[in-house]
Amino acid sequence: MSNTTTTTTKTTDKDSNDNKPVIGLSGRNIVYDKDGKPCRTCNTLLDFQFAMGKKPVIPHEPKEVKKEKLSGYTKDYPPDVSELGKSSWTLLHSIAATYPENPTDQQQKDLKQFINLFSGFYPCWYCGEDFKIYIKKNEIETKNQDLFGKWLCNAHNEVNKKLNKPVFNCELWKKRWKDGWDEEE
Ligand SMILES: Cc1cc2nc3c(=O)[nH]c(=O)nc-3n(C[C@H](O)[C@H](O)[C@H](O)COP(=O)(O)OP(=O)(O)OC[C@H]3O[C@@H](n4cnc5c(N)ncnc54)[C@H](O)[C@@H]3O)c2cc1C
Repeated sequence: MSNTTTTTTKTTDKDSNDNKPVIGLSGRNIVYDKDGKPCRTCNTLLDFQFAMGKKPVIPHEPKEVKKEKLSGYTKDYPPDVSELGKSSWTLLHSIAATYPENPTDQQQKDLKQFINLFSGFYPCWYCGEDFKIYIKKNEIETKNQDLFGKWLCNAHNEVNKKLNKPVFNCELWKKRWKDGWDEEE
């Protein structure tokens, strides 16, 4: 894990030695799993399909055109790095929004354990490894809801910076994830 904190993508040393594509159709590097196969949850859907040699499906085509029904279920694709990320942040910030204002020692311990396990099992492996590094450098704040919410917001901002996305004002995390915005905002 040499350059995870400075780049959004990863390749293995093997890439330059065989015919595996290095750059995807999105312009990002293709990320490979440790077994050398393209990583489904580390790439965009477009890049993953390209790396697999499949005909790319345009990800944002209107639902009616692209998606077929399968016994009552829509044939959705497995999540790519963006969909996985958005859903995961929604879960994490929502956990912060419902974390007790005055947690017990056990609740604090459980939350730390959860975040540590989450980083270890995160399906985009290089995202999880970078998150682990962040946790090591920035101890998880579990003393109360607001502290944890802000810690998480800062962790999310670290990824935003890496991806050149706007940094979120962490003073406002509760408006986004708990209380909602005032009418005039
Ligand atoms: C632990 C983790 C690590 C990740 N690492 C990588 C990575 O290394 N490379 C990569 O390509 N992707 C990574 N992702 C995914 C990435 O962060 C985004 O989720 C993905 O790019 C989709 O972005 P988005 O624009 O939909 O908004 P997201 O970044 O998913 O944000 C969703 C919503 O959260 C709100 N928000 C934004 N910033 C904050 C904040 N700081 N605090 C509170 N709320 C906020 C906004 O309303 C935003 O619309 C990671 C995801 C997670 C959960």
